Amino acid sequence: MTSYFEEHDCEPGTAPEEQPQHQALLELARTLFNGLEIDWGSLDTADWDHRLPPPASRQAVQSLPTVRVTPAQADKGLKCPVCLLEFEEDEGAKQMPCQHLFHGGCILPWLGKTNSCPLCRHELPTDDQEYEEYKKDKARRQQREHRLEYLHGAMYT
Ligand SMILES: [Zn+2]
Ligand SMILES: [Zn+2]
Repeated sequence: MTSYFEEHDCEPGTAPEEQPQHQALLELARTLFNGLEIDWGSLDTADWDHRLPPPASRQAVQSLPTVRVTPAQADKGLKCPVCLLEFEEDEGAKQMPCQHLFHGGCILPWLGKTNSCPLCRHELPTDDQEYEEYKKDKARRQQREHRLEYLHGAMYT
């Protein structure tokens, strides 16, 4: 018969110095994300694959251009993907680097929560060191995989 602590591998006293730090980080994260609806139960502080990416950097958001909706776009019934309202001809819209258009009032609060385009997940830079490291890491991992595939292809074809 195993005890609860053995089953969950968290017997009190095994790592006494780690616990308070972990708690402090969670507290900090809670403060930063205050007001957001996040399922804290499924949140792992080191696992960005399953976490909402951090907000876009202020600088990236400020440099998003405002464009005028053209008559052709308005004729086609181009909609803001966030609120699903059609743009008016000559209305000002925020343009993401992926060319998607949004109302400023719709995309700005969104980018204050997370850094990617709601439509295509194109990512803007963030101010989050930890997340930027993760992104670089991920790119490196993908590069390595591509190289391996290339080597494999070169050897066996
Ligand atoms: Zn909108
Ligand atoms: Zn997009």
